[in-house]
Amino acid sequence: MISKRVLSAPRIKVGSSQPPTPHRCCHKPLGWEREATSIGRHKLFVWQPIYGNLRLNSAPSVTLEQLMNSPPVPGQIIYKETLPARAYWHKRLNKGLILRIVDLEGCQAVDTLIYDAADPAIRYNAANTMKLAKNIYLSKGCVLYDDLARPLMTLTEDTVGRHDTLAGNCSREINMVRYGATASLSCRDNFIKALGELGMGPRDIPANINFFMNVPVSADGQVTIAEGISNPGDYVDLRCERDVIVVISNCPQEHNPCSGGKPTPIQLTIWRPH
Ligand SMILES: [Zn+2]
Repeated sequence: MISKRVLSAPRIKVGSSQPPTPHRCCHKPLGWEREATSIGRHKLFVWQPIYGNLRLNSAPSVTLEQLMNSPPVPGQIIYKETLPARAYWHKRLNKGLILRIVDLEGCQAVDTLIYDAADPAIRYNAANTMKLAKNIYLSKGCVLYDDLARPLMTLTEDTVGRHDTLAGNCSREINMVRYGATASLSCRDNFIKALGELGMGPRDIPANINFFMNVPVSADGQVTIAEGISNPGDYVDLRCERDVIVVISNCPQEHNPCSGGKPTPIQLTIWRPH
């Protein structure tokens, strides 16, 4: 007899070319079927386990709600919010807490700044972070360093494998220079509004992180803002190495592919590990 609880655990696997490995507490399926589905603007594949004559679903179904709740954080959730497309957000986080950022529909750039909560004049330093990582891309295990080469946060989980900290934030001004676009929303405007609420201003905007943004650099140094590589439900976990202030602009850019040409919501969860 297979319990419903056992059946439910390994059910959804999104965007992978290989079937999932069931967690050790799950009943091992007899096989897998790969079926096409779509969510938002994305076409993707879902692996469905087969248990004899039992099928969990007659048709694959993946909803935003399922992705928002999957996988669960291994700890106690103390804050959870869906940040709308184009919006900004800021929060003070204490040492030891983890911030999860979920790219709900995929290909959504999340421009992020980090400050030392005890002294906001000390903030995320992209150059120090790349030098100490010996890599221009951010990925799992990367430590995010400040101006004094001290850890602010650590990227403890990452389902994408590559994030940008070279290309900076979009602004109305560079949208005009690059695309002839006027009166558009921008991450710079979002940052200025968020920092204004924190008693800071434009001078406090350093080079930022762009989670889920694909900025390949070629061997001869060419840099491109390219189509995103993140799937719906991809996420990063960021552990606070000391008390920090995190500022986010859910990038409103529509003139290049950094947000898929159509900005979408993200989910922000703050949790305390067990
Ligand atoms: Zn932007």
